[in-house]
Amino acid sequence: MATHIPSRPASFIVSFDVEEHHRIEAAAGLDVPSNVKEEYGRRMEATTHRLLEQLATAGVSATFYVVGEIAHTHLALVRTIHDAGHEIGSHSWDHRRIHRFDPTGFREDLVKSKDALEQAIGSRVYGFRAPTFSLVRVTGWAVDVLAECGFEYDTSVFPVRHDRYGIPDAPRGPFLAIGREREIVELPLLTYQIGGMNLPVAGGGYFRLFPLAIMRAGLRQTFTAVPPAVGMLYFHPWEFDPEQARLPLGRLAGLRTYVGISRTTARLSQLLAAYPFRRAIDVVREIRGSGVPLPRFSVVQPE
Ligand SMILES: [Zn+2]
Repeated sequence: MATHIPSRPASFIVSFDVEEHHRIEAAAGLDVPSNVKEEYGRRMEATTHRLLEQLATAGVSATFYVVGEIAHTHLALVRTIHDAGHEIGSHSWDHRRIHRFDPTGFREDLVKSKDALEQAIGSRVYGFRAPTFSLVRVTGWAVDVLAECGFEYDTSVFPVRHDRYGIPDAPRGPFLAIGREREIVELPLLTYQIGGMNLPVAGGGYFRLFPLAIMRAGLRQTFTAVPPAVGMLYFHPWEFDPEQARLPLGRLAGLRTYVGISRTTARLSQLLAAYPFRRAIDVVREIRGSGVPLPRFSVVQPE
């Protein structure tokens, strides 16, 4: 892989979507017994504590997008994350994709999640990440609801072509997402542009399955992008828990979910040592304070 010297300022964010393992999209429709769900809850808590130690060792502040319900079931965990200096954002109330809602229902879900998390940490919540990156063209109306609910930024758009998510023509760097009437700062997930295609290298299989060099190539492109440039990465606690019981997924879904899971902790350490990661809200405020106008991009489906 070609190397080149970083030439422009860039910001890097490491984020964790905090949810129990059975909430993943690949497990939608599975009837997971309640004792298995409880076990995944315990493991999520233990793994998140290990991740907090890893972040502390590396001296990195991160952003945790937490499923609102977890503020009730794992209150101490949410407080511990916040007290360690990390940002707490919302990852919906119970991990339903935006497609499942109309604007009124989505608003209720957002308010419930934001309130629960804010009460847990005694502080405001500024950022949102949609389950399964479900802010896409057909759910573009969600931008209006996010702005109305007082969120300062969103980080749910993947500028890629993918069977489950993505707005392929969205900007790869921070932009102002324009809804029907309102707008919000959007921090899209990291992509690596090669041969005219955007690869979704921010996490998932690109973190676990492929050589780390591909994710790093995406991060390096951030250094050459027009400022303000941001490299946004995402992980889940369950991706750092190779010992957990496997969900009964189909062959392909099982492979996608569990491949490479034994090497993730070491890979995360490599990344944490290599980039100056910051909390998403700090990056958003710096961008706003700089006065540099962001590109405007309408995410709603053309009528
Ligand atoms: Zn999620």
